[in-house]
Amino acid sequence: MMKALVTSGPTYESIDPVRFIGNRSSGKQGHALAAALAEVGFEVTLVSGPVHLPDPKVVNIVQVESAEDMLAASENALPVDVAVFAAAVGDWRVAEPANQKLKKDGSREMTLTLTENPDILHTISHHAIRPKLVIGFAAETENVMANARAKLERKGCDWIIANQVGGGLAFDAEENEVTLITAEYEQIWPKQSKTEIAKKLAEAIRKQLS
Ligand code: C5P
Repeated sequence: MMKALVTSGPTYESIDPVRFIGNRSSGKQGHALAAALAEVGFEVTLVSGPVHLPDPKVVNIVQVESAEDMLAASENALPVDVAVFAAAVGDWRVAEPANQKLKKDGSREMTLTLTENPDILHTISHHAIRPKLVIGFAAETENVMANARAKLERKGCDWIIANQVGGGLAFDAEENEVTLITAEYEQIWPKQSKTEIAKKLAEAIRKQLS
C-alpha cells in the first residue's frame, strides 16, 4: 500500500498559556484531500493543526498546534510516497512565550518579539528520505502564477497548487479555484468545491505514482 502524508489546518503559536497567534485556515482542503487519498487507496497520515472538522477516515491522525510540532510530526511520518502540505503554517512564532498569563502594565503598548518558523515543505523537499512526490500550496493575493512558480523552485517541491485568496475562495471557504503547476505544465481547475478539487488531486497523484 502506498503511503501519503498530508498537513492541514492552521498553526497556533503560544504567546502565553491562554493566548496564541493563529490564522483563518479551516483545514477543509487538507482534510478533504486526506479523505480523497484514502479513498483511492493510500495509507494516509494526516498531521493537523487545530480545526473544527470531523476526523476524516484515514489511518493516522496526529494533532498538533505549533509549526515546530507540525514539522516533527511530519518527519515522524516518513518514509511516504507522497506528501502534500496544505496547512497554513504560521511564518512566525513568539520568541519567548511567557509561562504565566501576561498582564497589562499601564504603558498602553505591548511588543512581541517574533522569530521565524521552520519551513516544513522546504525541509521535507530536501529531506534524506524525501517522498517521491512533494506538493505544496501557494495562496496568493496577487501575481498568482509568477509567485507560485517561484515558490516551486524556492521550496524544492514537485507540484504547486496555486490559488487566489479572497472573494469567497480559499481561506475558510467551501470552494476553491486552483492551478496545478509542475516543472512541465500548468493546468487550471475552475471554481469547484474543495471536495472536488481533493478528488482531482488524489487521482492525479495516484496516476503520477503508478
Ligand atoms: O511560503 P508560503 O507559506 O506561501 O508557502 C506555502 C506552502 O508552504 C504551503 O504548502 C504550506 O503548507 C507550506 N509551508 C510549510 N511550512 C511553513 C510555511 C509554509 O510547510 N513554515
